[in-house]
Amino acid sequence: MIQRNTGFSNLTAGYLFPEVARRRREYASKHPEASIISLGIGNTTEPLSKHIATAMSEYALGLATPEGYSGYGDEQGNSKLRERIAEVFYKGMADASEVFISDGAKCDISRIQTLFGKNVKVAVQDPAYPVYVDGSVVVGAAGKNNGTGYEGITYLPCTPENDFFPDLSKIEPDTLIYFCSPNNPTGATATKAQLKTLVDFANKNGCIIIYDAAYFAFIRNPELPKTIFEIEGARTCAIEVNSFSKPAGFTGVRLGWTIVPNELKFADGSSVNRDWNRVMTTLFNGASNIVQAGGLAALDEQGLKDMKDSVDYYLENGRLIKSTLDGENFKKIGVEVYFTGNGPYVWAKFPGYESWEIFDLILDKCHVVTTPGSGFGPAGESFVRFSSFGHRKDIEEACERLSKLVLEKK
Ligand SMILES: *Cc1c(COP(=O)(O)O)cnc(C)c1O
Repeated sequence: MIQRNTGFSNLTAGYLFPEVARRRREYASKHPEASIISLGIGNTTEPLSKHIATAMSEYALGLATPEGYSGYGDEQGNSKLRERIAEVFYKGMADASEVFISDGAKCDISRIQTLFGKNVKVAVQDPAYPVYVDGSVVVGAAGKNNGTGYEGITYLPCTPENDFFPDLSKIEPDTLIYFCSPNNPTGATATKAQLKTLVDFANKNGCIIIYDAAYFAFIRNPELPKTIFEIEGARTCAIEVNSFSKPAGFTGVRLGWTIVPNELKFADGSSVNRDWNRVMTTLFNGASNIVQAGGLAALDEQGLKDMKDSVDYYLENGRLIKSTLDGENFKKIGVEVYFTGNGPYVWAKFPGYESWEIFDLILDKCHVVTTPGSGFGPAGESFVRFSSFGHRKDIEEACERLSKLVLEKK
């Protein structure tokens, strides 16, 4: 018989979100009367902008006409959309030949892992979005889980003690560094000075940074960088992965992009951009043309305004959650609340409690689903993540219930 891919046998436990969903289902079946509200997974809830939906539906109807029909497009993406992304978000920091359109950031991250293969050293922020680590295990770049983490992965704790910015001296030369800002789950957003340190470190030590900017649109502080290419030197050490999912509600529609600068090189001097082009043309066949029409609409004047409104709505939800967690009932037991106003997540530490314990308590007492911080990495233990993606009335109801939660001090 055929041997199982050892990458899969090395993966421990389930993917975090299916486990959250399993506990929710189990609770719901035991307590059918409970009306459960999810502040768990980062999934958008508000309707798509009419303007964007209309562009997609018109494109789709056009496909039924001889003039409007098109088959396969360029695997790298519609050239107008590539140009528009370069113009709107990168203004001289990247050009259209460096923009590759995809079906989303998560899918691009997994394809990036095929680009670097199994011999690459990997470093991740801890806690981090699970795909960086799990995907590395699947392609064999990481080994078995020894209880505190996977072999071959350098975990870089990001905690209140270091202002959520890692100690770079822990990273070996020639390492692939995953870095997410605004961060999922902590919400921390790196400053220009912090990113400059990271970029300088990477250039000096032969590292490549995979910069996940999926939440760039949530940045409201004009001092904070929205792309790593605002940092001098990033073009020789960074790839940026990005998405329409969170800014435009495209989580189900599926559209993202990745920037691979022409200057970025492998150790043998060959071009990373050229291999990425090969990955996209060989292992991918282009994002849906209907969806790309929606992406173009999202980047015109009306679309950009709609995107901003949609993000503002979630940011306001985040502020409501933050002020609830700042309440006396939480203060009394020493809860620490982190919300930057530049990302959709509220990250809270419950001293003395384990993450899954808090998850179960909040589910049981408030019928509110959260995400346990330990699921994002060892340094997330004792934290819980609250997502601000939700209808306002659900967020208000969840806050009302949370404000009555009484927990014992540990
Ligand atoms: C949601 C999310 C993504 C996934 O984006 P898609 O484009 O929907 O695949 C990527 N990175 C982070 C950090 C996310 O939270």
